[in-house]
Amino acid sequence: MMMDLHIHTERCGHAAGRPSEYLAEARRAGLEIVAFTDHLPLPDGYDPDEEYAMRPAELGEYVAEVREVAHSSGAAPRVLLGIEADWIPQHRAYTAGRIASHAFDIVLGSVHFLDDWVFDDPRLIDEWSRRDVRDAWTHYFETLTQAASSGLFDVMAHPDLVKKFGYVPPGDLSALYEEVAAAIADAGVAIEVSSAGLRKPCREIYPSDDLLSAFCRAGVPVTTASDAHSPREVGRGLTEVRDAVARAGYTKIAYFEAREMREVAL
Ligand SMILES: [Zn+2]
Ligand SMILES: [Zn+2]
Repeated sequence: MMMDLHIHTERCGHAAGRPSEYLAEARRAGLEIVAFTDHLPLPDGYDPDEEYAMRPAELGEYVAEVREVAHSSGAAPRVLLGIEADWIPQHRAYTAGRIASHAFDIVLGSVHFLDDWVFDDPRLIDEWSRRDVRDAWTHYFETLTQAASSGLFDVMAHPDLVKKFGYVPPGDLSALYEEVAAAIADAGVAIEVSSAGLRKPCREIYPSDDLLSAFCRAGVPVTTASDAHSPREVGRGLTEVRDAVARAGYTKIAYFEAREMREVAL
């Protein structure tokens, strides 16, 4: 089943294209299920340039627009109403409230903030050379597992986004990956396998083969996604994603409907 469960729109301030344009591409690519998952508005002060997420007033319009597109799409591709929400530990209540304000099918949880550092923002890349890479990775995965356990999310998006710019600690990461996979399995959420990393300096699917294998052994379900920020990226790299999923040992992939997980054959 060809599914792309992570798609943005121009509302977030760093993507291009309207939902109808993304849908046209999804249809052309022969996708069976797509989820719009634009960035949930951030708490006050976290998005000073309005480039990380849609503005609070736009959330209702976004939901209405996706519903309209879903209606117009008919049977194929099927359109799910989703959202991508940042995990900011001290703003759990804010995030929970926003998520509860609409009947989403699927809620992606993302870690882009390590305290005040938006570690994947290309404008802040210099910070990487000032930091200890191993410490940043430890902090990232602690934050990811905390987010997974928060009860707010269905799927953890791009689960090793911390590698985006190619800063990877030396040595064997298998103990870290086993620990992360066990914690995510305990949390009862799925993880996303995303082609976005193929288009970034790390040139690798999120998550890496080693981390994905650990997730498979731990019994963590997976979704497939492009994280499209322009219509032409819809479905991009899904073949590579599906190959990685199969290589790791999976035979099923997941999607969510009214926040209930369904699994289908890969
Ligand atoms: Zn984005
Ligand atoms: Zn995204």
